[in-house]
Amino acid sequence: MPGISHMLKGILRYKKIDQVHLVEQFKQVRENPEPLSVFFTCIDSRVLASRFTNSQVGETFFVRNAGNIVPHVKISSKDIGGSTEPGALELGCVVNNIRHVVVCGHSDCKAMNMLYGIKHDMCNHAACSHSPLRAWLQKHGAPTVKKFAKLSPENNFSGPLIFQGETEENSFAAYIDPENNFSLPDKLSQVNCLQQLQNIASYPFLREKLMRDEVRLHAMFFDIYTGNVYMFSRKEKQFIEICKENYNALLKDADSLEVNEE
Ligand SMILES: [Zn+2]
Repeated sequence: MPGISHMLKGILRYKKIDQVHLVEQFKQVRENPEPLSVFFTCIDSRVLASRFTNSQVGETFFVRNAGNIVPHVKISSKDIGGSTEPGALELGCVVNNIRHVVVCGHSDCKAMNMLYGIKHDMCNHAACSHSPLRAWLQKHGAPTVKKFAKLSPENNFSGPLIFQGETEENSFAAYIDPENNFSLPDKLSQVNCLQQLQNIASYPFLREKLMRDEVRLHAMFFDIYTGNVYMFSRKEKQFIEICKENYNALLKDADSLEVNEE
């Protein structure tokens, strides 16, 4: 079974095909940096985020962890510097003036599957002592689990659920997978994505930018079964597939300023 040899061969291939072109692009970016988004997503090896977003050199700050979680300020402030995500937000949105922050979850997420499995046992500290992944999920996954618990057979497991956007005044309703295309753990993964927007908005250093519309928050979902990418539309109150037909409506909903520019 190939292991590190596969990676070394990949690097040799990169040196042969891509390196010279990339170094040229690195130079351009160094002189004129204009990054476009901070993109939180899962570490899952199937989530080829730079490929499906067609990200080029200098465009995207990718931040990856198990379950694309951004700790809420209430938790991270108890352990300042203990997690990387707040620092990534500052580096992206404050130091580099990035305007768009995306949280992208995915289907069959092993972290979200685990969160789904432990959702009725979220205070089991003994179980965390030998599972850092479980500890991470118990520490940061409770709001997601609480929101997900509001889905029931009475509302077809779709809601609506209410999430906070950029500010408390920007709350929005969300119907989770109303066409019932995804499993319950995948629905939890979609809820988790939306919940992280609220966590991002909890950071005081972003508050003014969020209020002035200088930072916008977006949720996306990558379906590893079909390769389709969805974006949450606040107007439609659900995740909508990103495709040619939906492009204009999604853009208008995500950032009307860019519609005027085009
Ligand atoms: Zn995942």
